[in-house]
Amino acid sequence: MNNIFDTHAHYDDEAFSEDREELLGLLQTKGVAGVLSCGINLVSSYENLKLAKQYDYIYCAIGIHPENIADERKGDLDLIKELLKTEPKAVAVGEIGLDYYWEENAPRDVQIDLFRRQIEIAKELDLPVIVHDRDAHEDTFNILKEMRPKGVLHCYSGEKEQALQYTKMGFYIGMGGVVTFKNARKAVEVVESIPLDKLLLETDCPYLAPVPHRGERNDSSLIYLVAEKIGEIRGMDPQEVLDITAENAKAFLNVK
Ligand SMILES: [Zn+2]
Repeated sequence: MNNIFDTHAHYDDEAFSEDREELLGLLQTKGVAGVLSCGINLVSSYENLKLAKQYDYIYCAIGIHPENIADERKGDLDLIKELLKTEPKAVAVGEIGLDYYWEENAPRDVQIDLFRRQIEIAKELDLPVIVHDRDAHEDTFNILKEMRPKGVLHCYSGEKEQALQYTKMGFYIGMGGVVTFKNARKAVEVVESIPLDKLLLETDCPYLAPVPHRGERNDSSLIYLVAEKIGEIRGMDPQEVLDITAENAKAFLNVK
């Protein structure tokens, strides 16, 4: 299979420290056509930008993740905006959003404030947002409904009804390894019901490797397993799933 477009990776992660160059040098020979590698704070955003400049097929998202709000320094958002304005390979604002799962995360109002300010940047620059929503479905939905950026709900974990509301508003739904997991009832229902032109594939690597690699380090080449599962659910050829979602990704990120 070929034409894999991974719309959510973290190739700056230390899980890739040992063999990053080797792995990224080989991904295209394993069917990978494009990758969006996402920052989680300013330092990580710079690392991903570096990778995007080094490899033709890699693009990057720049932003501050809700679990990393403590890393934010005064002026970071100005720098983020400047990078997005001036760097051609920086094509999205992310990873941003709300995470109410971890108790040690910043208070909800602080998370919401940073989420909103980063959405504002995306809207000003006419760029998409890469949204992380963990146990914060209602607040995330209300903010996106009100502010209406272009965006994707990455590793979507909500119910299919809300997924359909999102796609009606023009948002994309990102699906990855979770859909192959044994307990994936919700993810399977989402894949069954959303319009294919709003579906994006992703890894969230190094995390969430698809079955039969669950628990191992994930990378973009394993997306073929996600395409196989989605093909099974939708009664389609997996290559067709990859082709359609790669086109969706290019349109979404405005890249060729
Ligand atoms: Zn992520």
